[in-house]
Formats: sequence, structure tokens, C-alpha cells
Amino acid sequence: MTCYVEVHCPICDSLEVNKAGFNHYRVRRYRCVNDGCITNYFMLEYRYKAYQPGVKQQVVEMAINGSGIRDTSRVFKISKTTVLSTIKNRESVLIQVNPNIKTLELSNECSVHMELTCDAAELDEQWSFVGNKSNQRWIWYAVDHATNTILAYVFGRRKDIIFKQLKALLEPFGIKRFYTDDWGAYERNIDKEKHEVGKRNTQKIERKNLNLRTWIKRLTRKTICFSKLEKMHDIVIGLLINKVEFGVDIHAKLQI
Ligand SMILES: [Zn+2]
Repeated sequence: MTCYVEVHCPICDSLEVNKAGFNHYRVRRYRCVNDGCITNYFMLEYRYKAYQPGVKQQVVEMAINGSGIRDTSRVFKISKTTVLSTIKNRESVLIQVNPNIKTLELSNECSVHMELTCDAAELDEQWSFVGNKSNQRWIWYAVDHATNTILAYVFGRRKDIIFKQLKALLEPFGIKRFYTDDWGAYERNIDKEKHEVGKRNTQKIERKNLNLRTWIKRLTRKTICFSKLEKMHDIVIGLLINKVEFGVDIHAKLQI
């Protein structure tokens, strides 16, 4: 009796699969020939677990859901180094500015494609730490007053110089009104006539408390055991914002 096993592509599920020789350990390799599929070669069984299709995506998803490096390494039976490098590798997909909001430059040219504009923004800075509590790390971010969508974010200390970076990122939007708390950096760096301090108009960003802020807070608290590197801390939170707020495909295949 002969047994047949249907071989599907692990990414696109297509049956258009060709045999493609053997690997180093004499395990059969396959190749997906479906047009537009990003898979090159794959195997049905992987000796090295991190190569298993989907594992790297799950490693990243676990990180933005608050799992530490050790947890992830245990679950997937891959090394901590691999977990770290998988997350670090995603740094190159990150952007700091929401690509879905119209900028002044764009609104003159192609107004058809982008409907979202931002007239007023709420700004806030949020504290977390890397490694130990004395090593403070702040995320500064702006949300659109009308839609509560994150416009841009930066990481750094609670200093004017970091706020200026955020301000520069917001420049292209042509925002006419800024609502903030009474932290001095805002007063020193925003034109008086555009600036309003107070609780009344920062309700939207305060309400972020209920979703993104709590998520980030939980993230910084739970992943504290691995956020020894500022870089890792920034990447994980950046990935969360890019995915949830900017709609970026954080698993996109890297361009080489
Ligand atoms: Zn495929």
C-alpha cells in the first residue's frame, strides 16, 4: 500500500508545491510555486524550531502581548538569543509617524486617497523604565483630538530636546491647536496662541488609559525582566503602536 501526503504551502496554503531536494540532514525540501507567495523553500519538519513557519511571527506577537524573553524561549523551545534577535530584526519595519493622516504637502496634491486630517492634537508623555526604576524611559506621543488616533511618538528622557523631536514629526500635519498637561516642555516649545493647557481638552488622550496606555503600562511592567536594553523596550512598544494604531504590517518580510 502506498501512502500519499498532501503538501500545502505553510504560508499561502497552496497545493502548487514542487519537491526541491533535501537539506543538510537529508530532510525533504519543498518549494511553493504559487505566484505572489513569499515562501521560498520549506520543509514539513524542522530540526531548528525557529525556522518553523509562523514561529517568528508568534515570537513578535508574544512580545507585544507582554511575554518576556524567557517565557517565549520556553514556549517555542528556541534560544533566548533567537527570541531577542527576532524582535530586534523587526526594528526596520517601524515608523514613528502615522502614515494615514494627511500632511500639508500631500493635501495639495492628492486629496482623494487620504481623508484623515488633523487640526487639533492632544500631547502626552508617559513614564516607564528600563532595567531599574532609576533608568527612566519616557514615551512622548500625540493623538488626533477628533479621532484619538496616535499621530506620532518618540522615546527618550523627559526633556525639551525629546519633545522637540516629537514636535518636528508633527510639523507636516499643520496642526492648529495643541492640548497638553502643564509640563513645562510644552509651554516652552509651543506657540502660545496654539497651545491650551488643562484637563478639559485632554480627555481623549487620557481615555487612552483604557486601551493603549494600559497595554503599554502592562507591557513595560510585565516585560521588565527583559527590557534591560532600551532598544528592546522601544522596539516592543513601537511594534505595538505600529500594528494597532498605524496599521503597519509588522511581520512584513524584510527587504534585503
Ligand atoms: Zn505558498
